[in-house]
Amino acid sequence: MNPKTFKIKSFGCQMNVYDGERMAELLGDQGMVAAADGADADLVVLNTCHIREKAAEKAYSDVGRLRREDGSKPLIALAGCVAQAEGAEARRRSPMIDMVVGPQSYHRLPEMVREAALGGRPVDTDMPAISKFDALPARRRASPSAFLTVQEGCDKFCTYCVVPYTRGAEVSRPWKDVVAEAQALVEGGAREIVLLGQNVNAWEHDGRGLAELIRALAGIDGLERIRYTTSHPTDMSDALIAAHGEVDKLMPYLHLPVQSGSDRILKAMNRSHTTQTYLATIEKMRSAQPNIALSGDFIVGFPGETEEDFEATLQIVDAVRYAAAYSFKYSARPGTPAAVMEGQIPREIMDERLRRLQDRIGQHQLAFNRSKVGADTQILVERKGRRAGQMIGRSPWLQSVHVETGAKPGDLIDVTLVAAGPNSMTGAVRERAAA
Ligand code: SAM
Ligand code: SF4
Repeated sequence: MNPKTFKIKSFGCQMNVYDGERMAELLGDQGMVAAADGADADLVVLNTCHIREKAAEKAYSDVGRLRREDGSKPLIALAGCVAQAEGAEARRRSPMIDMVVGPQSYHRLPEMVREAALGGRPVDTDMPAISKFDALPARRRASPSAFLTVQEGCDKFCTYCVVPYTRGAEVSRPWKDVVAEAQALVEGGAREIVLLGQNVNAWEHDGRGLAELIRALAGIDGLERIRYTTSHPTDMSDALIAAHGEVDKLMPYLHLPVQSGSDRILKAMNRSHTTQTYLATIEKMRSAQPNIALSGDFIVGFPGETEEDFEATLQIVDAVRYAAAYSFKYSARPGTPAAVMEGQIPREIMDERLRRLQDRIGQHQLAFNRSKVGADTQILVERKGRRAGQMIGRSPWLQSVHVETGAKPGDLIDVTLVAAGPNSMTGAVRERAAA
């Protein structure tokens, strides 16, 4: 029997969140409806992440947990990067899985569902160049802050990373498709668009780069804010840096992962930037846009990382004064060069380094948040807070701001930031002075 209701669970990065939304639209076009929270669904799509070991293991255990008390189970599709990496092997590892669909082939999901409903067990992990976007339905509804994937895949081959293998080669979506999707998202209610790509700042089409795309999107009426993530330090062009000083709708926030503060480790990671070139980029960015909030990614415990290398990472955190940052314990991914490097670091040392790094990042994050107390700014209201009358929005610097207001999601409101916590801010609504 064909399924009537579905549930999509996305793990990992924002690109998976975007893919999850598009799969929901596809299934919706087939007449299926999203199951209510807590309700059983006829079809469950697990949109997985392969970047760290735990995420993949978690997906398999989630598959197991889909067995119902009466012994029955929904149709199960394994999607995302675990699906791509494991292919048909995923079905062997978990016989409960009915379909395996990679990130480049999920436009085929409806026909795979029909096949699975008849007892088939389809697998599609092909990587046709970007054609899935052409096969997806037009966007109709959007949240106040909407994701838009403009670039996929990666040619950088950092030695620890599976992305070049699971997402394939770097491909940019054509200019006109991106602009059309942005327009549709704004018509569907988006006030902010977050351009996504594994190396979003490497986006290029017909000789035009991300800076030109951002300038064009800034011309869309009703679109108030533009962000982009994730950028690679080596692809940070002068044009993109200049856009931060010139395009008002481009938010003063840059996620620019450095991964390590040790040049020796960066070389072993095949990162193609050094601490010096990275810091020079940050300096250029700060002169173009002094108001910028910086964030990054770090890996601790890469093979061969000494205490001295790790201390160099703490030093770069101090030098940049990040407003936020994500940090991870190195996870050996099968098939990547680093997985077979000598000098794998024991778990206890990784745990201890991660703790010290997160403490240091936390100190800078709190200092950044405190530096914004007293600032008059705007927030984009996104959702209700826990308390009655409280809403949560985002500042230009991507801080979560709690505020008492009657405003609704999608409203941009004037606030004064009145208090800072480690992970969020409190704002007070500011009445606009009469003109
Ligand atoms: N393309 C982006 C870049 O190079 O900055 C990052 C994409 S990756 C999906 C997100 C983050 O996951 C990376 O910046 C890195 O810090 C982390 N990561 C990737 N592979 C990892 C691994 N094997 N172990 C731990 N963290 C990893
Ligand atoms: Fe992975 Fe490096 Fe590509 Fe980022 S740049 S996706 S870390 S290989």
